[in-house]
Order: sequence, then C-alpha cells, then structure tokens
Amino acid sequence: MTQYPCGVSELAIRTYGDPVLRTPTRDVEEIDGRVARLAEQMIEAMREAPGVGLAANQVGVSRRLFVYDAGDGPVTVINPRIVESEGEFTYVEGCLSVPGYAWEITRPDRVHLVGLDLDGNELSLEADEFEGRILQHELDHLDGVLLVERLDPDQRKEARSMLRREFSSQRRDPDGLASRLEL
Ligand code: ZN
Repeated sequence: MTQYPCGVSELAIRTYGDPVLRTPTRDVEEIDGRVARLAEQMIEAMREAPGVGLAANQVGVSRRLFVYDAGDGPVTVINPRIVESEGEFTYVEGCLSVPGYAWEITRPDRVHLVGLDLDGNELSLEADEFEGRILQHELDHLDGVLLVERLDPDQRKEARSMLRREFSSQRRDPDGLASRLEL
C-alpha cells in the first residue's frame, strides 16, 4: 500500500508556462508496475487537488496516459485516441494546470475513445456532456494542447497575455520529479 506523508501527494502539478505541458507525449510502451504506481499516484494527486482528470505530463511525465473520475470511480486510460466525435457542447472548463481560471468552451459533445487499461486490455469509452468533456480535455493535454488553445482567437490572445504575467515567476520542476518518474 502506498504511504503518503501527511496525506500530501508526491506529485507536483505543473502549471501554465511549463514546457512539458506544451510537448506532445509518447506512447507508453510497456504497462508494468511503474505505470501502475504512477497511475495510483496520479489518482491521489487528482483527488487532492481536487480535480476530475489528470494527464501524465501535468505531473512531468511525458507519456500517453491519463486518469479521470466522472463520478463513478477512477479510470486509468493508456495510449488513448478519439476515433469518433459528434455534436456540440458548451461548458465552463477549468484546468488544474491553470488554477484559478475557467472559460466557456465549445467542443464536440459525444466522443468515442479507445485505449488500453492497466492490464493491457483494450478500453473503449463512449461518453458525452461532462464525461465527454473530460476525455477531450485530457487527450488535448497528451497532445501538448492546453484549454486556452480552444478559445476563439481574441479570447485566446487576451488569456495568453494574462496567464503569462500570472505564471511567469513560478519555478519549474522544483524537486526534479521529471527525471525520477521518467518511464
Ligand atoms: Zn487540464
């Protein structure tokens, strides 16, 4: 069983401006104990934040894996891709890597996502509304895309300059976790 000192997650969530968030992640090649342990730690960090989804590069690991919980318990998704999307859904969206901000963003409503679970079995998820939104947001993270990029051009420009000011002074990778967790 995992031990966390004082209930504090070992993983630091990276914030806006950290290059790891803008870098497309690579596939997980082998689903082993390290991947399972990472997923477990990510679920813990997501709960603590608290949030409903967390991608591996948000904790400095540039691999294609995310965890989420739309209310039915945590799910780990490895090497995901969206094979189908339809409709349109507008929702106020926030991000643990851009704390304190939220924007109304329109994306497809229903998505069909395929990937692998922690046992290496094929995972097929069809979701809409809130859950569909989480899946698209986390998949964007794995492609190096932040929610700000989903705003219209005027809003995006404004948001970027505001966020650059807000997050420019923060330290990157304070504990060298990226190298420790590289898979
Ligand atoms: Zn996010």
